[in-house]
Amino acid sequence: MESTVFALSTPVGGAIAIMRISGANARPILEKLFTGRIEHRRAGFGRIADGEGETVDTCTAVFFEAPHSYTGEDMAEISVHGSYAVVRRLAELIGQTGLARPAEPGEFTKRAYLNGKMDLAESEAVMDLIASTAERQRRAAARQLEGRLSAVIGSLYERVKGVLAETAAFVDDDTDEIEFDINEAINKIIAVKDDISSLIESGLKARVLREGVRTAIIGSPNVGKSSLLNALIKRERAIVTEIPGTTRDTVEEAVSIEGLPVVFIDTAGIRETDDAVERMGIERSLKERHDADVVLLLIDRSRATLPEDEELIASADAGKTLAVITKSDLPAVLAPDAGGSFRGLPAVKVSALTGEGLTELRKRIASMAAPGELEPEVTNVRHIRALEQAKSALEAACTGLSAGTPDTAVFELREAMTGLASITGREDAAEDLVNTIFSSFCIGK
Ligand code: GDP
Repeated sequence: MESTVFALSTPVGGAIAIMRISGANARPILEKLFTGRIEHRRAGFGRIADGEGETVDTCTAVFFEAPHSYTGEDMAEISVHGSYAVVRRLAELIGQTGLARPAEPGEFTKRAYLNGKMDLAESEAVMDLIASTAERQRRAAARQLEGRLSAVIGSLYERVKGVLAETAAFVDDDTDEIEFDINEAINKIIAVKDDISSLIESGLKARVLREGVRTAIIGSPNVGKSSLLNALIKRERAIVTEIPGTTRDTVEEAVSIEGLPVVFIDTAGIRETDDAVERMGIERSLKERHDADVVLLLIDRSRATLPEDEELIASADAGKTLAVITKSDLPAVLAPDAGGSFRGLPAVKVSALTGEGLTELRKRIASMAAPGELEPEVTNVRHIRALEQAKSALEAACTGLSAGTPDTAVFELREAMTGLASITGREDAAEDLVNTIFSSFCIGK
């Protein structure tokens, strides 16, 4: 029998911390430590008491009887006050019962998978949902958790299986009685392959959801790069810091703009005055400009353009560059051309000081990074790889059929099915794959 495991599922330091226990000993542990009522899916109110009967904390505890729990096993969730001292003492007491061991990273979700509560794609969605910082990431993960991707993969799998059955029957047929239309089989395979291709494409587009929209802020010294960056992330910080327990670090890495995670790339290095360093700074900012999804080229409208500004304008990649005309609160020396463009680049006028134009700028960044709807079925890199594997197997199967070697096609169709099945893990996910996926979770999940 699987051992019983426990772990804290919330960060410490909030008002409440939730300790989870999963496995057959969940109830005996509660009975030992918790004075309140223990009833399936009901919150009991009571105390956690140590061996001497001394109160550790007052708390609520919910018991879930197998299989009606997250993991599919007996489970308990104890909500205590969220201090280190309380949590540490509770963990000590659970450990001292000898009835449970600390959980490994991702072990609760792994058990849910192994007990058939969710498939691999859904388990990975749990992780994506926990890690999501922007609205559209959350939406994609929530859809996947609901099983949308699993359903799509399941139907592709069945279609390949259908063609495989027909092809295999034809290969095994010694009597020449089975009718097999090779062209029809090829067409069916091509149709599946095309569907897989569009899934892959949507997944590649979703890169900005996985990694964030890389946005470089470039411009000559004193155009207002730092001020603009601060103004753009200030509102975000204000929103996020209202939610207790969120870290500022992650916010600074990826702020949410119009529901997209946006990573701003600091090009402050360009400011150095020493010649050698300045060249390095410029080189670095040119590289950042090259790698970026969106480039904000800042132009200070309160002064005439410098040679450096001219150089940046002349070498701009028009496809991804937005001219940001800064300091709109100051008298204009330069005026953007009529119709919101500047020297042939789309332009928006802002002031970091008054906030003018910032909303428009946020909208423009989002629409440049993700034009149109971005509602990908596939977001996970592992899933994209598996789809690519299935796709090339299907191509090989078509070649096999046209070349008159249907036995090759049978082999390749099986390969395609294996690739598809590895996404949801329903058929025969290899154990090491399962371990790799769950070990990247954090403890408590
Ligand atoms: P950077 O060198 O490009 O990072 O530019 P900074 O953000 O440090 O700004 C350079 C100077 O311009 C500072 O003195 C800022 O206070 C000023 N500045 C930046 N943005 C604005 C703005 O929108 N309006 C006004 N009036 N001054 C600004």
